[in-house]
Amino acid sequence: MKKMIALKNGTILTPLRKIYNGVVLVKGETIKTLGPADQVTIPPDAEVIDVRGAYISPGFIDLHLHGAWGGDATTGLEEDLRKMSEGLVRGGTTAFLPTTLSGPLTQITKATACIQETMAKKLPGAKILGAHLEGPYFSMEQKGAQNPKYIINPQPEDYLPLLEKYPCIKRVSAAPELPGALELGQELKRRGIVAAIAHSNATYQEVLQAIENGYTHVTHMYSGMSGVRRIQAYRVSGVVEATLLLDELTTEMIGDGHHLPPSLMRLIIKNKGVDGVCLVSDAMAAAGLGPGTYDLGGLEVVVESAIPAVFEIPNEGRNYVAKLADRSAFAASVATMDQLVRNMVKYVGLDILDAVKLATLTPARFQHLEQEIGILAAGKKADITVFDQEIVPQLTLVNGEIKYRAG
Ligand SMILES: [Zn+2]
Repeated sequence: MKKMIALKNGTILTPLRKIYNGVVLVKGETIKTLGPADQVTIPPDAEVIDVRGAYISPGFIDLHLHGAWGGDATTGLEEDLRKMSEGLVRGGTTAFLPTTLSGPLTQITKATACIQETMAKKLPGAKILGAHLEGPYFSMEQKGAQNPKYIINPQPEDYLPLLEKYPCIKRVSAAPELPGALELGQELKRRGIVAAIAHSNATYQEVLQAIENGYTHVTHMYSGMSGVRRIQAYRVSGVVEATLLLDELTTEMIGDGHHLPPSLMRLIIKNKGVDGVCLVSDAMAAAGLGPGTYDLGGLEVVVESAIPAVFEIPNEGRNYVAKLADRSAFAASVATMDQLVRNMVKYVGLDILDAVKLATLTPARFQHLEQEIGILAAGKKADITVFDQEIVPQLTLVNGEIKYRAG
């Protein structure tokens, strides 16, 4: 039988509380027990790992990313998903939802089929929780970087066979004001799939209807969504205001230190609380690879850390983003989850427990997975990340197996 693993001499972030001088005992795929050193007996034959004062946290969960570490979730190739899985553990991520983009339905179907097949196999690192379809049901006014050529209205004859054949689909991001989008929301709700408002030009009243028809979440706060506007001299609130106001909606933010300044992240957290918003990377294939020039789907992009003085974050390197070659717009995030957590502590001023919660328990709850992951407790899956005081990952376990160790 496999030896138990004992992580000792760490500060455990459950993340509801801190346990100082803590020990976590892992047996097989799950956590056997945890607690302060004087209350946990380490079996003599266990593999003991002294983490030397580092933090022991649940593994990070990323519910929205299109690629990372050279792998692209939209190609429909297993090799790409494996690259993502293998690389993500270096940033402390233990579970993720590979996310498609607006494209031809045949391509979305191929990518989804590949996710379904690959998630059943043994992976080199982080595990796949299912598929997140971002698009193609979006508003043209709020398309952002989604390809307008493939943006369409939801039709049951298109999405029903897809949902039927691929139970791996766990989340769909769509604009609820489109014809047919409320029926889609109901269908998703019926199947236990998270329906998220995304790339939407909805008015406040349309958001209320969306909630009545199954939508519960709002994709990447402040990106691709309507705000307050004037219609015939009257101010009309949009998705931004509805999300900040309504407790029925949860949301997520790209905390890469480029997409949102600390003031907006604080505004979101002030309104939603750390139980109502999670961190997502929304990353593309260049995430984790460092600065340089890359080809993203035929588009030349530069990955760099340069920030204009008007932004609230100083340019200190380490926080990278992908920009179009002429630097006129962001091409994507290239963030890793450890970077997002670090930014919450460093720039947003959160306590380490709250910062970790945004990347673990909160996203687990959004996908109804908190019985299994997102929290360190006896009986939960041993998805664990150990990181130092600078929030640099040192060790990552997935289902009780060591998948990454800093060299
Ligand atoms: Zn998007």
